[in-house]
Amino acid sequence: MTVFDLAIIGGGLAGCSTALHARKKGASVILLERGRCGGQASGVNYGGVRQQGRHPAELPLATRSRGIWGRLHALVGCDCEFVATGHLKLARNDRDMVDLVAHQAVAADHGIAIELLDGADLRRRFPYIGDRFYGASLCADDGQANPRLAAPAFARAARQLGADVREECPVERAVPSPLGFEIYVTGQDTPIRAHRLVNTAGAWGANVARWFGDSVHEDVMAPNMCVTEPIAPLIGPNLGICGGGIYIRQASGHGSVIFGSGVGIADRDALRARPLAAVTMDAAKAAIDMVPALANVLVVRSWTGIEGRMPDNLPVVGPSPTIANLYHAFGFSGHGFQLGPAVGAVLAELAIDGRSPTCLAGLSMTRFAGVPDPVATTLPPANCSQHKEEGE
Ligand SMILES: Cc1cc2nc3c(=O)[nH]c(=O)nc-3n(C[C@H](O)[C@H](O)[C@H](O)COP(=O)(O)OP(=O)(O)OC[C@H]3O[C@@H](n4cnc5c(N)ncnc54)[C@H](O)[C@@H]3O)c2cc1C
Repeated sequence: MTVFDLAIIGGGLAGCSTALHARKKGASVILLERGRCGGQASGVNYGGVRQQGRHPAELPLATRSRGIWGRLHALVGCDCEFVATGHLKLARNDRDMVDLVAHQAVAADHGIAIELLDGADLRRRFPYIGDRFYGASLCADDGQANPRLAAPAFARAARQLGADVREECPVERAVPSPLGFEIYVTGQDTPIRAHRLVNTAGAWGANVARWFGDSVHEDVMAPNMCVTEPIAPLIGPNLGICGGGIYIRQASGHGSVIFGSGVGIADRDALRARPLAAVTMDAAKAAIDMVPALANVLVVRSWTGIEGRMPDNLPVVGPSPTIANLYHAFGFSGHGFQLGPAVGAVLAELAIDGRSPTCLAGLSMTRFAGVPDPVATTLPPANCSQHKEEGE
């Protein structure tokens, strides 16, 4: 009877990175993905790799992840088109500037360098940005990558190192057992057995957690995305705005401009998500307001994806509060692409070594203790979400 050291439910970027990092530690690993690795949020996101503007609780993971993004080629054999274009956050007024100054100090505590620009600096260095902005902050170390490439590259590398990566493998349930866990895959009578279990099931993470009595409410969000025809190089850094709203980047290879704002709709039970035409129109107007030269550029496609969102917009990352050797990482609330590589490294450390050097304070599931989980206590939640949240 095979008993794996570690089983992982969910082959998004978090799960695939966990598989790779656990194999690098010599653990026997099985990853079970319902569809294809990177087929959900990890493969359809905006591609923003940004530390700037993150909540302090995410910064230790974000800085560790940034280190991994910079050495992807050595780790997974492909750079996933990661480029450190920088990330420029625009201030609409003097109050925004005060927030940017405060964040600069917080980021500096984590070793992240952020440069502040007044209006004149902004116009001189980035003349293609609309002239209504008051100033900005630039994190030169931030950048962008191609989400289509990332999770599959981690899965491939994990497989090459000997991980058993199984796609088209929906897990129906898992239960604690004397050896660790028994995991039941749809259509298979014999359970898969593992000593430790990692739940990286994305927007379905809270469902998996509930199998073990770890009850927490996870909503669903669907950031509305657009991509234009390719254009000549125009936009340098990945662009965002204080208070959320429009975010814009230009893909360094083919030159298409990718932008997002607002949310579409997602039905996580049906595994379906779609952008909304009115949201796309508003996003296009906001994009032109931020970069007026986009006025006559053709939008060729809009899309969205299914993302888990926690009540405080911070993910759950860490051990189960109730079951030994069970670890959760889900509900990334629109931020998990940048964080994914480090999340996997940390989960592998927690599961195999029992500890991680990366601080996870503020991300434990226990922060929701006493907060009612409507799914566990009453009716299933509505599957549609229209929250105004960023997906960058
Ligand atoms: C449109 C959009 C734009 C975004 N933009 C950005 C951005 O620019 N920057 C950023 O940092 N973040 C961004 N995000 C968020 C980011 O994409 C996610 O936070 C991140 O990809 C989550 O990774 P994950 O591995 O946790 O989840 P996922 O990628 O969703 O992977 C979870 C996997 O678990 C599988 N699964 C679930 N249940 C089961 C089961 N029972 N059995 C087997 N498999 C199961 C699913 O099929 C899925 O493949 C965006 C998200 C979206 C949707």
